[in-house]
Amino acid sequence: MGIKGFQGTSLLDFPGRIASLVFWGGCNLTCPFCHNPALVLEPQAYPDLDSAEILADLAVRKPFIDGIVVSGGEPTLDSGLLPFLEEVKALGLAVKLDTNGLLPHLIAELLAGQLIDYIAIDLKTTPSRYPELHSGAVSAEKLVETVRLCADAAVELEYRTTCVPGWIDEDVIVKLGELIDGAPLWTLQQYHPEHALCVKARQVTPYSAEQVQSFAEIASRYAQRIIVRGLQPERTG
Ligand code: SF4
Repeated sequence: MGIKGFQGTSLLDFPGRIASLVFWGGCNLTCPFCHNPALVLEPQAYPDLDSAEILADLAVRKPFIDGIVVSGGEPTLDSGLLPFLEEVKALGLAVKLDTNGLLPHLIAELLAGQLIDYIAIDLKTTPSRYPELHSGAVSAEKLVETVRLCADAAVELEYRTTCVPGWIDEDVIVKLGELIDGAPLWTLQQYHPEHALCVKARQVTPYSAEQVQSFAEIASRYAQRIIVRGLQPERTG
């Protein structure tokens, strides 16, 4: 584990804010459709970046950015995350955490310490199928625990689902909707298979833009706001 990447400025990844991006290597899942397989499968191939140097860089950038996005891989696996975020907050920067939500105890610590302002949690498929997303043991109950934990947390909350055929369909959207019922925001994305972790997943034909929009219609029964991202209308399902 460790910080593997740093990007100075992004307008896209932290809604309403200009942010720097910090990427962690390693993950506790190996989703076949993962779009960042190198960070997941071979984190050791990338040198660890010095967190003190990143903090110094952030201090210089502070007049021009509102916050940072913490992403991966799965950043909550790194025991250095919490002290790093304490330093980031001491700089007065906002923090967005991108997570698969499988480590609720760590997320609880981050919330209790007021170390995150925005949390984006992936919903990859129905919880009962999470064990299929990794060769090792996966407790989908941990995801459910994170959802419960975040329902009343004083942070901005977003759920995100990439609509991968074979993992997402109407029934799954309903089950996930029931899990997060009343959530403020659920973002659905069209699947882009080109760089997927598994060869088979690279050969999957994505859902059409129209199909993703129809999933969004169903999702809108459960979340207060739906965003659809990454549509390439020329893709056909
Ligand atoms: S998609 Fe996310 S949770 Fe799944 S393996 Fe990739 S980084 Fe990990």
